[in-house]
Amino acid sequence: MTDEPTDIAAIICGCVFRRERPVGLVVRDPEGDWQFLCGVVDHAGDDPPDAGVVGVRQAVLHFQLPPDSTGLEPGQTACLEPSTGRWEGF
Ligand SMILES: [Zn+2]
Repeated sequence: MTDEPTDIAAIICGCVFRRERPVGLVVRDPEGDWQFLCGVVDHAGDDPPDAGVVGVRQAVLHFQLPPDSTGLEPGQTACLEPSTGRWEGF
């Protein structure tokens, strides 16, 4: 036994992972899985190309995520509003 908390796997956009774009869209799908995406229209959708997998805790540490993103409930989404720079949930 270790006391390291288990991390939850999340899908991350390949371009976010390579730091080509910031995270612009955080999705928690109805099954409770996480997706950290750039939110750019060219590959928004259920199945972004070259997506990778990271741990949620790892993603919070290494990528710019909204402070309350890990509080999203299944089925909720948060996106970055480019004009205000604010995160909005819906
Ligand atoms: Zn992307």
